Amino acid sequence: MRLGLRPNRRRLERETIAAATSKDFDTLLDSLQVTRDMRRGRVHCKFCARTLQSVGEVGIVFPESGAIHVVCDDPNCTLQFARYIGEHPELY
Ligand SMILES: [Zn+2]
Repeated sequence: MRLGLRPNRRRLERETIAAATSKDFDTLLDSLQVTRDMRRGRVHCKFCARTLQSVGEVGIVFPESGAIHVVCDDPNCTLQFARYIGEHPELY
């Protein structure tokens, strides 16, 4: 599984995460067109549905079913993500 995880959120097991520098993370978001979609108000946290308006609000990005999903920087959503991937082994 390839994940983009903000460097200060390394709470999950290392082997499942490709940790990146902050610059790499921004580049990743650009390449996945998350930044563009964010400007259009089309990026929402998978777990709390909050609309994300800046890269700084993004905690995690991950692929699922051919789409890119975003998790916000709220620790509760990070925890929900950890549980979610534990329940969906097909994601990694
Ligand atoms: Zn959230």
